[in-house]
Amino acid sequence: MNDYHTHTSFSEDSEAPMEQMLEKAYQLGLEQLAVTDHYDPDFPDDEWTFDLDFDNYWQALCENEDRFKDKIELIKGIEIGILPGDTLVKCRDTAEMFPYDVVIGSFHAFNGYDLDRRNFAGMEKEEIIPRFYGIMYDCLSSYDDFDILGHFNIIDRYLDFKPDYSGVRDLIAEILKILINEDKSIELNTSSFRYGMGERTHASKEILLLYRDLGGRNVTISSDAHKPEQIALEFGKARDILRSAGFERLSVYKGRQRSEISF
Ligand SMILES: [Zn+2]
Ligand SMILES: [Zn+2]
Repeated sequence: MNDYHTHTSFSEDSEAPMEQMLEKAYQLGLEQLAVTDHYDPDFPDDEWTFDLDFDNYWQALCENEDRFKDKIELIKGIEIGILPGDTLVKCRDTAEMFPYDVVIGSFHAFNGYDLDRRNFAGMEKEEIIPRFYGIMYDCLSSYDDFDILGHFNIIDRYLDFKPDYSGVRDLIAEILKILINEDKSIELNTSSFRYGMGERTHASKEILLLYRDLGGRNVTISSDAHKPEQIALEFGKARDILRSAGFERLSVYKGRQRSEISF
């Protein structure tokens, strides 16, 4: 088993030393741990910059890869926050800065704010979901320097109402087709269980089913852990969701090359 999306103290929102994350993953019996710390160029928040100390981060990845090589395989990754416009150039530069094994592309901001601010000023409730996925579609139409799309329907976490996806099914299908054409993966991110959203995982089962119907087969399982005790959280449920949606293999990455394992 592996966990393909985790954070360490190199991320602004984590205090977990990389060694502790790897030691815990090893104790849990994982064969691989992808460390994917945050970098969000131009992040629109005064308090959180989601900057990254690139050189020291890369050095720590390499040192820990070596230190743990007989116990667990460290997959050297990064999670890049995607924003439209000129930021996409910075996203691409970031992805190419070091020879990462895997790059997660994620949406963390919307409407000019950190998603966590829940600032949807100027928008009617019904506009939020179509606008969010419209921006995702525009960005992914021109930006492809990532391997896994992070926590697809993360927007759901920040809404105080149950989102209605019936009107955006075609738009989401178009996004999924881009990912399928580029052989990208989508993740089943189990942080939904930590955020009280239970089995409305990221991606949700309805998105996973649509992805599979369209021919998508590339999936990963990840916890988005920011602490050791969150690693591989609820992975039994994640496997059940993926199997019941018809998936049989997981994507794994080395040097940005995708291969597959059974699960
Ligand atoms: Zn993220
Ligand atoms: Zn993350």
